Amino acid sequence: MTPDAAATPGAAAPVSTDAIMPTYRRYPVTLVRGEGMRVFDDAGRSYLDFAGGIACVPIGHSHPRWVGAVREQVGTLTHVSNLYATIPQQQLASRLVALAGFGQVFFCNSGAEANEAALKLARLRGRPQGKTKVVALTGSFHGRTFATLAATGQPEKHDPYQPLPEGFVHVEPEDVAALREAVDDATAAVLLEPVLGEGGVMPLSDAYLREARRVCDERGSLLLFDEVQTGVGRCGTWFAFQGTTIRPDVFTLAKGLAGGLPIGAVIAEERHAFGPGEHASTFGGGPVPCAGALAVLDVIEAEELLPRATAMGERLRAGLADVLDNAGRPERPRGRGLLVGAPLGPVDGPGTIRASAVILALLRRGFLATEAGGNVVRCTPPLTVAAGEVDAFVEAFADSLVEASHPAAQGSAP
Ligand SMILES: *Cc1c(COP(=O)(O)O)cnc(C)c1O
Repeated sequence: MTPDAAATPGAAAPVSTDAIMPTYRRYPVTLVRGEGMRVFDDAGRSYLDFAGGIACVPIGHSHPRWVGAVREQVGTLTHVSNLYATIPQQQLASRLVALAGFGQVFFCNSGAEANEAALKLARLRGRPQGKTKVVALTGSFHGRTFATLAATGQPEKHDPYQPLPEGFVHVEPEDVAALREAVDDATAAVLLEPVLGEGGVMPLSDAYLREARRVCDERGSLLLFDEVQTGVGRCGTWFAFQGTTIRPDVFTLAKGLAGGLPIGAVIAEERHAFGPGEHASTFGGGPVPCAGALAVLDVIEAEELLPRATAMGERLRAGLADVLDNAGRPERPRGRGLLVGAPLGPVDGPGTIRASAVILALLRRGFLATEAGGNVVRCTPPLTVAAGEVDAFVEAFADSLVEASHPAAQGSAP
């Protein structure tokens, strides 16, 4: 960690988390500034950010082009309601449709809202034919609203909030027979993350996705891709489905789209799109997040970040694979592009290493990363990450693995 006293303009004001509901068990650091791949804490230490706001800053922190576009828009037009057309929203919708190669866009403010809208769309279109059911995957994550929680394949998150909206069933990822059995004439949609993110960075095989496409076509069900984490270049293509041989009927975006500003988007085949009065959002697609998103897309293009995401992702996975190998561990890193997970195996029994302990050890060495389900260290850095930064992370990961394998390091963390 590099001391950087000049980097702490907010450090003088005493702050406390006591007034905040403790929904997050936070890492023991207060961040005050970001620049490119780095963030700085209130003690002036700097960190290489392999968390990247959990896949929300594809062009890095405070990229000058993004800052300029957002500043300009705040000073020009901030909010007018969706009763009026605005230029940034029209431009962003056109860009997304051009990049996807199909569809129309509905804008909202978050991943959960985007998935909520996609689920409403599937009900709306399926209901006249008696199709209301949604099939989703065990271990998936789709958001925290009631319907997206019902779609999320993690029963332990459901229990305290029952009753949830009806009509959701879950099948194991990669089990084609189970999928075929679950999808019937009453199925409105199949909802998938092309790479399960929160569930432990688990890419779905092209064979499985092709089968999902086929089953949906046979039954007249919509195929919905939740690309909230995988979209906007994260997996080395604009959208993860473009790295497969199929295309969904509807897909959702959020996390990385506006470079850290809140936004969500649903892109649907035109014939399935919402009509007048069928859905709405007050802030959705406001001029400022849309201006930020346009800058994100511009920078990804101008700095050729898609091939970089692929190359740096491969470098990171190869480096992590060597470290796990040398440590005598059987697990292999997973992911696509710069959505990378290093699984550390079961959390009980001999040789246990907790991902949370590795992450704390990385933090002490000046690197941010996050945990994903199933004891996985997850990396979602800006797509601007350089080879030397990847190598530095891999080296710190090796040291952190050793530190975390010490029995005293197994205490719990966020
Ligand atoms: C983060 C995430 C969501 C939820 O997004 P929010 O903006 O937190 O509502 C939904 N789906 C996936 C795949 C995600 O990674």
